[in-house]
Amino acid sequence: MIIDPRFTQLAQGLTGFSTRLGKGERVLVDAFDVPDAMVIALVRAARARGALPYVQIHRARISREMALGAEEAQYVSLSEIELARMRQMDAYIALRGSENIFEAADVPSSRVQLVSRLMKPVIDHRVNKTKWVVLRWPTPAMAQQASMSTEAFEDFYFRVCTLDYARMKPGMKALAELMRSTDRVHVTGPGTDLRFSIKGIGAKECGGQYNIPDGEVFSCPVRDSVEGVVQYNAPSVYLGSSFDNIRLVFRKGRIVEASSSSTRRLNEILDSDAGARYVGEFALGFNPHILEPMRDILFDEKIAGSFHFTPGQAYGNAATATSPRSTGTWSASSAPNTAEGRSGSTASWSAGTGCLSPSRSTGSIPTTCLRAARERPRGTQARSRPMNPAPPRSLDSFIQALPKTETHLHMEGALPYELLRTLDPDLYPDDPEFRRETYRYPTFPNFEQTLLRHALPWYTSAERYHEAARVIFAGHVRENVRYVETSFHLHVTEFIHVPGPVIIDAILSAAPPGLEVRVFAGMLRNAYDGPLRAAIDALPGWEGLAGVDLHGFEEMPTEPWSFRVWERVAAAGKVTKCHAGEFTGPARVREAIQQLGVRRVQHGVRAIEDPAVVSLAADLGVTFDLCPLSNVRLRVVPDLASHPIRRLMLAGVNCTVSTDDPLCFANSVNGEYAALAGQAGFTRSELAQVARNGWSVADVAESERRARLAEIDRLAGT
Ligand SMILES: [Zn+2]
Repeated sequence: MIIDPRFTQLAQGLTGFSTRLGKGERVLVDAFDVPDAMVIALVRAARARGALPYVQIHRARISREMALGAEEAQYVSLSEIELARMRQMDAYIALRGSENIFEAADVPSSRVQLVSRLMKPVIDHRVNKTKWVVLRWPTPAMAQQASMSTEAFEDFYFRVCTLDYARMKPGMKALAELMRSTDRVHVTGPGTDLRFSIKGIGAKECGGQYNIPDGEVFSCPVRDSVEGVVQYNAPSVYLGSSFDNIRLVFRKGRIVEASSSSTRRLNEILDSDAGARYVGEFALGFNPHILEPMRDILFDEKIAGSFHFTPGQAYGNAATATSPRSTGTWSASSAPNTAEGRSGSTASWSAGTGCLSPSRSTGSIPTTCLRAARERPRGTQARSRPMNPAPPRSLDSFIQALPKTETHLHMEGALPYELLRTLDPDLYPDDPEFRRETYRYPTFPNFEQTLLRHALPWYTSAERYHEAARVIFAGHVRENVRYVETSFHLHVTEFIHVPGPVIIDAILSAAPPGLEVRVFAGMLRNAYDGPLRAAIDALPGWEGLAGVDLHGFEEMPTEPWSFRVWERVAAAGKVTKCHAGEFTGPARVREAIQQLGVRRVQHGVRAIEDPAVVSLAADLGVTFDLCPLSNVRLRVVPDLASHPIRRLMLAGVNCTVSTDDPLCFANSVNGEYAALAGQAGFTRSELAQVARNGWSVADVAESERRARLAEIDRLAGT
């Protein structure tokens, strides 16, 4: 049988990273309406690891028929049989497809509850005693729920499910630590104002070991602490019924008011169990590939920037949350406009629309850990859609809300000044002259000296790159920048004797969830004439390297080696960039485009001096990664009002906006946008266009690009 290579890759992830099957271990493969080829791929992958696979096939229509006439005695013995089998298993892998999400719509809820009550010991054993992983299977019905074509949905599904979950770990750990040290949580958004405590509860990281897709950290409110109101914001499907506009009001932890499109049915569910009116889970989602709701809880609760709040877990003492979930559990996710957590003065966290970053964590970690069962009962789900926010009122909030990119950023020039100060506060004073808004660098060499004098004392190891990158990227997340291209100075590898690929790893591994990072190697125009020659020849084969950039003193001639190297790097499928048209005229921009073959010119501002070069750039779809404030501070232009960015955009050149070297300019992405508005008269629609331009060149999946562009359109009211 021919097996789709994506099936094999997924099967390898499930038997490897997720369940780590070992030799002689027994694994039950539970397949619900999935293709035989996928089951076969799992059987083969399990065998390849020396494990013993067992298979059970389910069909939804048959399960419905069985449930319609479910009898107590029948399911008591079925439960015993399945429990006996589960006890033999070391691991469990379930794939759940659904051709009709409403297949169980006409099964009376009394029968559904009977079945789930009697089969619960099987689930409990599996959750507590086996290495298990559960995932959805993509079907046309799921694509339909997500308003996507079947093929686009399948592409999305395999991208999300075969994500390198190990990369999520550092950011996830930081968030979990922060949640563990947090006391008060306050969530606000349209129709939502919710306050509760998570003090002493602990937090659990979910990074692909059990559920796929994954990407959330969950905790649980102290039972009686929840006060306020939450307005969920999408249609939800629960036990075969559809709900819209679920709104819950809490007093002393209990849901005292519940309304939705089916208020009566919702209240029946909340009354089905003694614990169903209390909340059993509070979680924050951050899967970087899940940005729009699929109307499937296993996906939606992982949406980057969403939270979910799940009623229905019965237990007496929240601080020792060990009892299993009630059968009435359901959950919904909601993307808040703002969410803040406070624990005295020791920790805080914040979430914007669509991204989330733990900003600081200095509190102690309570010893009590949340030990609640991780799985939510199947078929008991409500879902929600992130809000379509009304256009923000203030300009600052509009700029903040725009999903932005940064595509021209030097790692060394981005060193957070506060990090440098930790090395020697006397040597690096609080407010140095060169970081003041009014300061202008007299010459490029003077600027370069300032940069190197401050950056090189810090960048002495791969660990220092990692540490700086974490702080830099956290700043991006705070500003709602979701895609970054950054270059490191290849010559540093020579000074500190660390290979380039190690530095690339150090930077990439600092990327928090919700931020895509691409790393470029930047080098001087005479780099080949020295010890870097071997490294430069090896660049096309460097894994993790997104591309190359020529930078530094622009007056140097572009040497012949660079044409050959740039060609080889491009042939290896990487992106080539070149600094040009900053300190020298339009001829260098032409050279970069025509001879080096780049489609990404860094700066390029002085192309404006030659209309033919502007047309060339526009015709070939070249992007100018502009840094307006850098140009002002380096006297490339006298002020922002005379910056050519608007003229370049009107001439059809794709212009993006970035910060270049914030260490030297004390600027930020949002600051650049605000300065364009304040000093160059940029309208909201022009700012939105700048953000769109960034996404148009970002190396992201088409679905993500479309989602970001749609988000910008909504914000700009277009
Ligand atoms: Zn630059």
